Amino acid sequence: MTTTALEDLALRCAACDRSDPLAGLAWRCGGCGGVLDLAGFRPAMPSAAALAGRRPTLWRYAEALPIAEPAQISLGEGLTPLVSAPGGPGVQLKVDYLMPTGSFKDRGAVLLAALARRLRVPRMVADSSGNAGSAVAAYAARAGIPCEVYVPAATSAGKVAQLRAYGATVRQIPGSREDTADAAAQAAGQPGTFYASHVYHPFFLHGVKTYLLELWEQLGGRLPATLVLPVGNGTLVLGAYLGCRELLEQGLIDAMPPIVAVQAAGCAPLARAFADGAAVPAVIDGEPTIAEGIAIARPARGRQILAAVRDTGGAIVTVTDDQVSAAHAGLARAGLYVEPTAAACWAALQAGLVDLPPAPSDGRVRAIAPLCGSGLKSKPPAAQSD
Ligand SMILES: [Zn+2]
Repeated sequence: MTTTALEDLALRCAACDRSDPLAGLAWRCGGCGGVLDLAGFRPAMPSAAALAGRRPTLWRYAEALPIAEPAQISLGEGLTPLVSAPGGPGVQLKVDYLMPTGSFKDRGAVLLAALARRLRVPRMVADSSGNAGSAVAAYAARAGIPCEVYVPAATSAGKVAQLRAYGATVRQIPGSREDTADAAAQAAGQPGTFYASHVYHPFFLHGVKTYLLELWEQLGGRLPATLVLPVGNGTLVLGAYLGCRELLEQGLIDAMPPIVAVQAAGCAPLARAFADGAAVPAVIDGEPTIAEGIAIARPARGRQILAAVRDTGGAIVTVTDDQVSAAHAGLARAGLYVEPTAAACWAALQAGLVDLPPAPSDGRVRAIAPLCGSGLKSKPPAAQSD
């Protein structure tokens, strides 16, 4: 049902405009090393009438996705519920931890697995602090493609157990998150290897974009006044921004809502660059944080993230571990058990760091934040005394 043939798509460097065929398995620009975006794709949002008869998965937006739904790979991902935030009038939370592997990363991973099968690759490689690796490993298993996942040695035992259960080969790399990414990049350079990278592969962002398309559909053809999103490598920010742009270009929204992106105070290269008016992420030494999923000191798409947030008139704010910990506990007391990283946006809302519009008379939702990962596979932030 998708309107573009795979053969018409290309990978285009965001920095120098060089193009590579999609089937070439490049994961960064062969000329300048820049990040690659998808070129040649003409997305279209299906009409409300067309959507009414479709199954409740993200594949309902077929015309907006760069690849057709592959046979027997889907695990029913997408169309997660919206719930009211505890005590926050006009604020809603999107329960993306109810995805097949427990995080929003399934949105992108299913598209990567679909592409890997179409390209008949013999092997997939991924790297992740946990959730993206689990998502890629699950969909690789579903697609019958051998998968190797690189993770930092400090990754929680629950996340490693999940990877192994899916049949992935787990490579635990000592050192920083960046050391893990470097090891995966080296493996990705071997011939015939598909680097199923949630950071580099543009298909991942087109999958994550469905987070935004779902909001638009669930709110009856409009978006909330503000989008609050966590940011580390920026897959949710860039995916949501991509979705907003596409809706705007199709005349389905009048303006893009401001994106307020949330970083952990101990590892905030984007927040610092945003405050300084800089175009590229600040050079920092990241400190350990309980929000491990967004502890990214050198985000590869940093320039794009900063430009996207500025284009929406948004902001990048930071939350401390104490604020995340309190928000995590508060969500759990409201019945929502997420991983600490997934409490970062709620922490920012609770701390008053998000400039919310006054409750509008037309009932428009003031802000929506994702609950992006389940608490069941992470370390609790600290023993909560009672
Ligand atoms: Zn380039």
